[in-house]
Order: sequence, then structure tokens, then C-alpha cells
Amino acid sequence: MSSVRTRIAPSPTGDPHLGTAYVALFNRCFARRRGGSFILRIEDTDRERSNEQSERRILDALRWLGLDWDEGPGRDGGKGPYRQSERAEIYSEQIRVLLEKGDAFYCFCDENRLAALRREQLRQKLRPGYDGHCLGLSAGEVSERLARGESHVVRLRVPREGECVFTDLPRGEIRIQWSQVDMPVLIKSDGLPTYHFANVVDDRLMEISHVIRGEEWISSAPKHVLLYDAFGWERPVFCHLPLLRNPDKSKLSKRKNPTSIGYYRSMGYLPEALLNYLGNMGWSMPDGEEKFSLEQMEARFELERISLGGPVFDREKLDWLNGRYLREDLDDAEFVRQFTTWAFRPELVKTITPLLRQRVSRFSQVSALGEYLLRGELDLEAENFSHQKLDPETCRHILQFSLWALESIPELNRDAVEARLRQLAQAMEHKLREFLFPLFVAISGRPVSLSVYESIETLGLDLTRARLRDAVTALGGISNKQLKKLEKEYREVLPEAARSDRPPPA
Ligand code: GLU
Repeated sequence: MSSVRTRIAPSPTGDPHLGTAYVALFNRCFARRRGGSFILRIEDTDRERSNEQSERRILDALRWLGLDWDEGPGRDGGKGPYRQSERAEIYSEQIRVLLEKGDAFYCFCDENRLAALRREQLRQKLRPGYDGHCLGLSAGEVSERLARGESHVVRLRVPREGECVFTDLPRGEIRIQWSQVDMPVLIKSDGLPTYHFANVVDDRLMEISHVIRGEEWISSAPKHVLLYDAFGWERPVFCHLPLLRNPDKSKLSKRKNPTSIGYYRSMGYLPEALLNYLGNMGWSMPDGEEKFSLEQMEARFELERISLGGPVFDREKLDWLNGRYLREDLDDAEFVRQFTTWAFRPELVKTITPLLRQRVSRFSQVSALGEYLLRGELDLEAENFSHQKLDPETCRHILQFSLWALESIPELNRDAVEARLRQLAQAMEHKLREFLFPLFVAISGRPVSLSVYESIETLGLDLTRARLRDAVTALGGISNKQLKKLEKEYREVLPEAARSDRPPPA
């Protein structure tokens, strides 16, 4: 394994995230700088959460940013398939190796036992984790239980003593006590691999030389290192990039900053400016210049220049940089060309044109009707929401509940939006017309506009979320205490939607 091969391995479970673009950028720059290859692998072993729409959007977002891959879906480099869901046989073959060596073992513990174990560990103020119960089973007993078809998983045997030592490029030596590392499941009861197992097997078989990924994976590294060692494989170089942060230094999250690449696209940022800005996160050009192209970054990139102080993703700074691109890099003709491409982007045109056509009798009416779709913030005030039957508090509740309800839709499309909002209106015991009023205003700035369902689909979740949140603020906001109360109420009103998501994000 002499040549440099890097990869990103996104899981297709939601909106394409800025963090994915950031990690992809660094992986690609490093591979290019060393004359190596940059690989894209889709980690879709979580069948329930993965979906094709998300995969498509991730690929589109990467292409939009100019971060094409050398190998991956649609670009065979001889080491595919590049979707984990198409590699099941490979994992079955590899797990046999570890089972034979005794580094992996069958575990028949059912949920009840594991839950009781956890309760007991918590009661004794111990670190919850698997207790090695099935390690004690005899070979005969294991074969018997397997022959009986008993449900089981395969786990990795993790030492209970000593420490895991591995090297991370920017951080140097990292030591983690094995007692802090749970014995992870490698193969689930449905026969499919978990992230840890598939990730390591694939990195090896795809000959990845440098694993460059976000800092949040450091705690998984001991399990990965153990797998490499168990197989007798040489470990790759690990390099964990610092997490992107909000200006208040908290981890970049959609609660405080839109995180989907689609949002930045629909807000009218230039892909090269966004990419350039991400290039300034934890890295800098040797000459300190903040504006540089992808090619320039690829030519100068070194992992050694990564600095660990949490890089802040600051929208104002991004605006400044994007403004520089608009002024310095585009002449009038190019500005018009790019603006037009942006304003008439296919996903927007496709959903909105049929609606617009129904409602206008001349072209000069089009822009007034569709203008809100091309805007970022709508700058609304409480008066915009005045309504005979709905007071500001009710409007706030409807908006907040709608935000949570929309978050719980697995694939955002107009029918799903309509179904979920109708369900919520009914559950909140509002007439649909009244219920939709604050949504119309929040989304389009007006009480009547094009269909709110299509508008939400077109704007996407990040822009919708930003508008709903701005509307709640315009209506006086919701305190943390009230939010807690509302969350509880929401769960009672719409338990099925609340269950399909983690706790509703604020
Ligand atoms: N599938 C993981 C993710 O969603 C990949 C993490 C890694 O790069 O190892 O980011």
C-alpha cells in the first residue's frame, strides 16, 4: 500500500451536511497533493435510516461544490461496490476470519438481559456496557444454539485491561483505557454489519492509506485499531479533523446555524466561495491568504498545517468572502449568467412553475408571486401575523410544533409535508385554514401565496426551519422553560411523529 488513498464515507440519512463537505475537501486536497486517489463510499448499513433521496442529494451537493471523487458510485476503480448495502457477502466472509481466530464471538443475550444489565450497572454507578457474558459459552453450546436458530449478534472481544495506544496525526499519541471501550456488535441480528465492522473492512479492502475524518470518531478509533490488529492488517494513518463550531463555540448544529449544503446553495452562495471558506476551517494557506481556489489549496495542502483550536463557522465571514468572489471574480456577464442559473435552478423551477402558471395572467406578475422563494430572510414582524382568531401565542405553538413535525418526515416532499401538517392540525384541534395561516406568513411573508406544501418542499428543511424560527422570534420567542413544556405537549399531541425522531430539536 504505497499510494495515498483517502475517502469520505457518508451515511445517507438526511440533508447533505457542511461537515461532509469539509471532510471531503480535506481528503481530496490531501489525495491530490500526493498524487493519490479520493474515494467516495456510501455507508448505508443502517437500512432503516438510510434512503436513496439522501444519497442522491449528498452526491449532488458534492458535485455542486466541485468535490468529485476518483472512485465511488458511478466511477468504478476496481475496488467496489462502493455502497455497503451491496457488500454483504464480503462482511460475512471477513467475520468468519475473526470468529475462527476467537477475536469475535457469538452473543445470544436478548434485549431484556441487556436492559437489566444496564440498569444494574447504572445503579452501581458503573460504566454501562456489555459484560462478556457469552464469552463464557462452550463451543458445543454455541453450535447448538446456532443450530436451533437462536437470534444472535457477533461482538468484538475487547481486552478488559491495559490501554489502546494509537497515533493521530495532529494530536500525536492517544491512549484510551480498554475498560472504557465497550465490546461492540460487529454483525447485527439481521446479519448486516455495524458501522465499525463495515468501515474497517472497507477501508482495508479499498486500500485506504489515510483515514481523515471528524473528531467525533476518535472514541471509535480503539475499536477500529483493535480490528486492524485482530486481522493482522497494517493500521492506516488516522487524522481527526477539529469539529466545526458555532460562533459561541458550541458544536455546529442545525439549531444554531443551518448545516445543510442545500441551504447555502439556495441562499445563493457560490460553491467556490463556500468551499474556500471551509478550507479556512482549521487550515490556512502558508502565506495567510484567506481567498484561494480549490486548485491552489490542493497544490499547497499539508495535514501538518491543521490546527486544533475549534474552527468557527461564521456566517458573516462567509458573506464577506462570498461578496469578494462576486465583486472580484465575476464580470457583469458572468454575474448575470450565474445569477440566472441560481434563480432558475431545476428543483425550484420544477415544483413552482406549474403553480405559478395557474395564478398569473402576465409575466410581470410572476416575480411578485414567487419572490419569497428567492429570498433568504423575510424580516417579518408580529403584525404580519395578526389574525382574528389566532393570538400570537397560538401562532408560536403552531409554528414550533410544525417545525418538529416537519423534522420527523423521512423524505421531505409535498405530499409528505401535507400529510404531516394535516395530521398536526387535526391533533391540535385547529381548522386547517386557521392552522395554515401562520405557516403561510412565516414561509412566504404573506397570508396567501403559492401552496405552502410545495413551498416547503422547494425551500428545503434548512430554509424552512430558519423561517419558522425567525417567525417565532418575531412573535416574541419561546423561553427555554416554555420550550420544555411545549416539547412534552408535542409528544402527547403527536406521539407517532415524536417517536420517529430523537427529542425534537429546538
Ligand atoms: N459513516 C460515517 C459517517 O457518517 C463515517 C465515519 C468515518 O469516516 O469513519 O460519517
